[in-house]
Amino acid sequence: MEERIEVRNPATAQVVGQVAIAGPSEIRDAVQRARQAQKPWNRLRFRERARIVRRFHDLILTRRNQILDTIQAETGKARRDALAELITVAGTARYYLSHGEQTLQPKRRRPALPAITSAELIYKAHGLVGLITPWNYPFLLSIADALPALLAGNAVLIKPSELTPLSAILARDLLIESGLDPHLAIVLSGPGETGSQLIQHVDYVGFTGGTSTGRKVAVAAGERLIPYSLELGGKNPMVVLKGARLDEAAMGLLAGAFANSGQTCIAVERVYVEEPIYEDFSRNVVDRVSKLKLGWSTSWDVDIGSMISREHANKVLGHIQQAVDHGARVLSGGRARTDLGAAFVEPTVLSHVDGSMSVAHEETFGPVVSLYRVRDSEEAIAKANDSRFGLNASVWAGKETYAREIARQLETGSVAVNSTLLIYNSFDVPMGGVKLSGIGRRHGEHGILRYTQAQSIVRSGALGGGYDSVLMRIKIERKARALVAPLRAWIRFPWFK
Ligand code: NDP
Repeated sequence: MEERIEVRNPATAQVVGQVAIAGPSEIRDAVQRARQAQKPWNRLRFRERARIVRRFHDLILTRRNQILDTIQAETGKARRDALAELITVAGTARYYLSHGEQTLQPKRRRPALPAITSAELIYKAHGLVGLITPWNYPFLLSIADALPALLAGNAVLIKPSELTPLSAILARDLLIESGLDPHLAIVLSGPGETGSQLIQHVDYVGFTGGTSTGRKVAVAAGERLIPYSLELGGKNPMVVLKGARLDEAAMGLLAGAFANSGQTCIAVERVYVEEPIYEDFSRNVVDRVSKLKLGWSTSWDVDIGSMISREHANKVLGHIQQAVDHGARVLSGGRARTDLGAAFVEPTVLSHVDGSMSVAHEETFGPVVSLYRVRDSEEAIAKANDSRFGLNASVWAGKETYAREIARQLETGSVAVNSTLLIYNSFDVPMGGVKLSGIGRRHGEHGILRYTQAQSIVRSGALGGGYDSVLMRIKIERKARALVAPLRAWIRFPWFK
């Protein structure tokens, strides 16, 4: 009998869908169909492929309510957080529609010998791209990385989290509705095992998820020697220094720490505040946090929705409890809200956190942020960098040049100045992590070139005379020179001078 996954809304515990698990034979079949469909797709011109992505872009805007309903139904998140997914997918589509062709165009490069040789760089699709995606942004992460892969001429197989397969399936249906051959984008639902099987068949794997799973993916890809990218977790710092506009910084922190119930890879989890402004800033933050509205609703009036599951909420509450047991203070929130549903956690602000607590150095991935006092910018930078992760950071420091100077000293793949999550919608610059936060980049040129292999075509004979024959002549002349060297004392032969 076919095995199925039951998908539940974590806010209401209602079953909202069922999907079949893709076993080994379904995966093999999908691989075969996708490989066949990829060949003619790859032969199309960029513009022909782009036509479908453009239709998809327009379609997701007109079908926005269906998309937001689906995202909310399987995640329990607030509607505004679902909207953020849609906006980012539309922005990614627009970016690659206007820049993808230019990036993928063959490029003339500096040749070995100007005039008689030439060098050209071309980008060839890998063929079959596997995308393994998490539950926190199920629409965005399953499709935004698929669009550049498709535009570059690949077919994609998507393995969404077993908790949230419905958004990926809907995204794929909308691509088909936009005119894509159904065999070019296939969703393979199932548990982690489905993901590890998928890696055995594809030519490139794009993984987004936790660091420990990312390691397993890297090992499996390494065994097959296929290229991969890993977009992993973070423990993202924010630095607030004298001169920062505190109202704006406090509002920035609310968005950065509590959007999507804190279940965002680039969410702020640690805040280093310079001593003289610490009290004002912390009061400002706590005052705002206490006004946030928590709950489940398909209207726009909720600020913070459910977490993905009771298990994950318990992990987050465990971080809070362990910190409190070791002396941390709860400035705001800190409790489960079982009156609202099984997986609601109050937006929480902690102080007096130290290195003995998990919340100080492990990714919490929930609506929890810790405030730390620091003497000066030097201490803030040192503490911000004291982490195994290096995904995103945020700097608030008044003068722009000063803020940028601080930003450059932070060991993260991206830094937002006077903002927190801005990198996600900055499509023209690469996004990704250093240290345990990942390998590879999405967005910008990197985000589409990673789905290609660079091939160099070097040509000799541009002006009739070949490079190899020039080389040969040089060798012959050298040999001749060596032969005649003993005679040079008494023979004068101008050619060998
Ligand atoms: P996981 O690492 O648990 O899972 C990610 C995906 O990998 C899921 O589809 C999962 O399947 C699958 N998977 C599990 N085991 C394997 C395996 N052995 N081989 C191949 N695939 C496997 O992450 P979460 O879903 O819990 O997502 C949260 C994490 O994602 C956080 O750490 C977060 O920081 C990170 N993340 C990073 C982002 C970035 O851009 N850097 C963006 C968003 C999230 P299943 O769920 O069905 O078990």
